[in-house]
Parts: sequence; structure tokens; C-alpha cells
Amino acid sequence: MATLLIKNGRVIDPASGRDSIADVWIEDGKVRAVGPDLEVSEVGEVFDATGMVVAPGFVDMHVHLREPGFEHAETIETGSRAAAAGGFTSICPMPNTAPVNDNATVTSYIVEKARRHAIVNVFPIGAITKGSAGEELSAIGAMKAAGAVAISDDGLPVMNARVMRRAMEFARSYDLPIIQHCEDLNLSAGGDMHEGVQSVRWGLRGIPAASEDVMVARDLVLAQLTGARYHVAHISTRNAVAMVEYARRQGLPVTCETTPHHFALTDSAMAPYDSNYKMKPPLRSCSHRDAVVDGLVAGTIGAIATDHAPHAGSEKMQEFERCPFGIIGLETAIALALEELVAPGKITLSRMVELFTTGPDSVMRLGRGTLAPGAPGDVTVFSTDVEWVYDVNQSPSRSRNSPFHGRTFHGGPMATVVDGEIRWRREN
Ligand SMILES: [Zn+2]
Repeated sequence: MATLLIKNGRVIDPASGRDSIADVWIEDGKVRAVGPDLEVSEVGEVFDATGMVVAPGFVDMHVHLREPGFEHAETIETGSRAAAAGGFTSICPMPNTAPVNDNATVTSYIVEKARRHAIVNVFPIGAITKGSAGEELSAIGAMKAAGAVAISDDGLPVMNARVMRRAMEFARSYDLPIIQHCEDLNLSAGGDMHEGVQSVRWGLRGIPAASEDVMVARDLVLAQLTGARYHVAHISTRNAVAMVEYARRQGLPVTCETTPHHFALTDSAMAPYDSNYKMKPPLRSCSHRDAVVDGLVAGTIGAIATDHAPHAGSEKMQEFERCPFGIIGLETAIALALEELVAPGKITLSRMVELFTTGPDSVMRLGRGTLAPGAPGDVTVFSTDVEWVYDVNQSPSRSRNSPFHGRTFHGGPMATVVDGEIRWRREN
């Protein structure tokens, strides 16, 4: 039997209420036992985690793997390698591929490709509408049967409220979460960055915070009407966080995530006209960023998701206005959470682990996010003090669009274990 013993780490498993020095014993792909000084007969591999944190495998519920259709920017295989290098054991790719994942054939293609080529677990998200065009509902039941774990038209919002209402009714009857990219396209009207002092200074068209707020407000009304499990992707504004908090206090099954760049960066931290700072939603002002951090602290925001969005160099090399939105983020997420949230004392390490494990898993219901005996043998090992420099040119991703290239980080992933196998470990 294949066994892996991860020895002597600080095991933080919020789902089991554990935070103590212990060993984790994985046998045949499942957690066999967790405890101090485990006596294991016939150990296969041993990983010495002394001085490191050992946590349930991290889940990234929002990535773009670009396959099928945009394999020059990323593939399921290369995206999974970037995930492993970032400490993620499970990832959920959004459906904005070509063709769009709006039917069971595409869902099955992704599941099968992942089974053969991915080094982490891949749980695809199906489209809400055909072609993500926002008009006709996609084949939601068939996609679920093929392995889709949620529905979303991410990259685009569902602008038509009647369509969104029907989609929520279907999501509810299929017991799937519905994830919205909250943006009113008429309000953002071709903007390139957050509307504010900086956009005026640089002469770029702005995307107002209201563009996000209006859509969140509408959707929360529809969520109340339908009872759907509704999730706001990449939340970025003060009002949106406040409205989600209000809805949750009313007892609605409403959740939201934010990204590392939205809690780590603001529009005033942008390098002028550098497309590696161009994303949707845009980097907001300090006041919005602070509201996002407060939401993470208070529990309104229950998950950190990277929105890993690879774009080939040729696309990101154009002038700012012509560049596509999005940055890669899998490899820098843990380090940014440690530096921006844990080190300054805003959240505890245990809360950080929740935001990457039980938080996303309670939305997506993947049966991950814990090291309880019998759970899948997925483990994320990270350090709170390892010093390393992020060199995007060494990334396993096919794309290089990161604003964090060259940054020296303190803390980061050390090893990634999937199904009881070490799929990545930090060299040096
Ligand atoms: Zn989006």
C-alpha cells in the first residue's frame, strides 16, 4: 500500500478544530490518521514538515484554464502545474473556453483531459447560458451529470434579469451554486480601470464601483425571490460587501469570494499603463480595498480565489486600452495572504486556512477541505517565513501576466500533495 507520512508540522485543520504539532499519515490516497508521533509500519515516503504549516489541500474555486480553444495561453495540464506550485490541490475552471463549456460534451472533455493530464483535481464550472451570451439557458442538468459543480458566465454578467431569475430557479432545483461576475455592462461602458482620481489623472476610461454594486443589488433581490445558492465572484467594492453582509444576516444562502490582488493592491499601486494591472473588476481605491479586508476579517467574504487568468504575451503587449483583462495568480496567492493579511495581524493563520479550504468547499461541496480520517489525501504544506523571489519566467503556466514578478515574498507554499502523492515541492 502506498503511504506518505508528513511529519512534525503544525497541523491546522479548522474543520476538525485542530491546531497542533502532529504527523499526517496518508494511505492509498486517503487520510488514515493525524496525531503526534504516529507509529506507522511500512512507511513509503516521509516528508519532514518541521517548522512548516500542514493544512488540508487548498481549493481555488475560480480559475481560467483556457482549454479548449486558447491553448497558446494555458492548458489544463500547465494550469494544474501552476496550481500545484501555488499549493492548490483542487481548482474549478470557469467555462469561458472555445467552445464555451455550456453542454455535457465540453464538460466531459475537460473532465477526461484533466483525468489524464492534470496533476491536481479539476472540477469544471458550466455556463449559465448558451455561449455565455446571456439569453438561453445552457444544458445545466446534463453538465451536472457530466461533472460540473457550479454554473457561471464568468467574464460576462447575465444582464437580463428575467434570464437570471430562471437560471437561479434551475440552479436551485439542481442544487448547484450560481456564480455571478457582477458588472453592469452599460455602466462600465468600455472602461479600462477603476473610475476615480487615478483614471482621470491617466486619461483612461473608468469602471465605476456602481457597476458592480448595481448587479449585486439586483441579484440579491432575485436570490431572495428564488432561494438559490448565490455566489458573488471576485467582490471588490464597499457597497457590494455591505449588501452581501446584509443578505447573509437575513439568512439567505449568499456567499462571496475575493482575490489576492483585490486585497493586496489598489489603483494607486498600479504601474501606469502596465497591462499586468488590468483586470475585472479593476483594482479599486484604498477605501474599497479596506472594505474587502474588513469583509475577510468579519466572515462576510468566505473564500479567497485567484481568478487566475492567463493571457499570452502577444495579447498583453498591446497598449493598455486594447489589452484583455486578467492576471495569473495561482503561485502568489498563499504568499500574498500571509503577507497582507496574516503578518499584519488582520486574520489568524487558522482563518487564512479556512479561506482556502472550508470556505470555498462549503460553496462548491467538493468533499475536500479537511484532514479528517477518511478524507481525500490532499494536503497543502506552506511556510510562514521562507524567503523567495517570484520569477514569472519560471512559472509552469504558459502565460507571464503577473504584477508580482520580481517581488520577494516571506512565506509561501512548500509542498503540494494530491491523493497521497507529492505533486510539487519547493526546490532550494
Ligand atoms: Zn469574472
